[in-house]
Amino acid sequence: MQDSKDQNKAVDNLRKRGHRITSQRQTILEIFAELPHGEHLSAEELHEKLSEREAAVSLATTYRTLKLLSSLGALRELDFAEGHKHYELKQDDLPHQHIICTGCNQTTEFEDHFLEQAGQKIGARYNFEVVDAQFKIFGLCPKCQK
Ligand SMILES: [Zn+2]
Ligand SMILES: [Zn+2]
Repeated sequence: MQDSKDQNKAVDNLRKRGHRITSQRQTILEIFAELPHGEHLSAEELHEKLSEREAAVSLATTYRTLKLLSSLGALRELDFAEGHKHYELKQDDLPHQHIICTGCNQTTEFEDHFLEQAGQKIGARYNFEVVDAQFKIFGLCPKCQK
């Protein structure tokens, strides 16, 4: 299945960089892999889901782990200008970007390989090893224009 493949990839990436896969990190990656396509979680939402699984950790630890997994490229930290961040599994074979309605906060995902390549190119220009390239488009959705 697509989901478990992405999750394994994330785990491989962590191992390659010398990080231990604690059961807590594994559970977090599992939760993200199981999300319906296009869904993102805030730290609070993830914390809630962890509690439901009796994998209770403090909110502070949840924040820290999300930051770590994002910096390692296993997760993507998304800022939709809502005052809190959202996270999703980083899918290297399924790169996508987001278009966000500033009226109703609806987030739509779209694929664009040109943007992906532009991110890699610009990163290379500055000798960066690119972990992620994010492009966001803000505007009013058709419903909110009425
Ligand atoms: Zn997304
Ligand atoms: Zn809208």
